[in-house]
Amino acid sequence: MTKITRNDKCPCGSGKKYKSCCLPELEARRFAALAALRDACGIHPSEPVSVAKAIVLAVEHQKASRFPLAEKIYHNVLLLEPEHQDALFALALIGQAKGDKDQAVEYLEKCLNADPNNYNYRIRIGSIYNSLDMPEKAQECFQSIRELIANTPLDQFNLGNLFNNLGELNEAAVCYEQALKVKPDFGEAHFNLGTVYLKLDQLDKAVASLQSALKVNPGYAKAHNNLGFTLSKKGDLDGAIAHYQEALSLTPGFAQAHYNLGNAFKAQGLEEKAMACFEKTRELQPDMPELAEIFKD
Ligand SMILES: [Zn+2]
Repeated sequence: MTKITRNDKCPCGSGKKYKSCCLPELEARRFAALAALRDACGIHPSEPVSVAKAIVLAVEHQKASRFPLAEKIYHNVLLLEPEHQDALFALALIGQAKGDKDQAVEYLEKCLNADPNNYNYRIRIGSIYNSLDMPEKAQECFQSIRELIANTPLDQFNLGNLFNNLGELNEAAVCYEQALKVKPDFGEAHFNLGTVYLKLDQLDKAVASLQSALKVNPGYAKAHNNLGFTLSKKGDLDGAIAHYQEALSLTPGFAQAHYNLGNAFKAQGLEEKAMACFEKTRELQPDMPELAEIFKD
């Protein structure tokens, strides 16, 4: 779209110059919309207002659950910029938070239509559809994202991470598996896949993936730690301890591995060894929440 300037012919087809036809009314409307936005934001009439500033204020209201104040600002932003993605998405989130499914769905649809290629929104929209008990709509979103961006193993891996961060674990697993089909020596993909299986409590699959990660990179301390944790969940404490110790020989300052090793010793009844591990953990990461219970006396 080329920008029309003041002296161009008006796009309405009147033949008059834009500045002496439709432009003044448009400017008046924009001025009124800005005044309404300033009002919604509670900004003094002498102070300047901008959409960016308004969004910052709205997000503060939203975080504090002052939904009516936030919504008022977002609606006024949309009068100025009808396809403003942050405003559309925020109104969907507020609908979700209020338990107003109609509002959530209405704004999710608008957000999808505003920029069909924005996968960052699309993936979050899919996740909200899942939370609204609309799995078919969620799948539609996720599938379109795959078609949009998922080509190389790295694309698949990054998409998997997006799903993983949203808690869409099954979607994440599919992506990592796709990446590994093309690139079987992709160590981080094995690791993340194993960690997803661990979260899904699919322990045998987790063990296999984490072992694959270690086959690609035997010095992968985080993979040793997570494999140890998976083995301990399966009841193999000796195996767990061996992998925690391996993780710690690779990364001596690995607080979580010290903590896990302490728990494994404790489960074996080796209290003294366990306490030594917890002390070491506290030295490395004093604010670890799990330590509060151990050192409560
Ligand atoms: Zn005109």
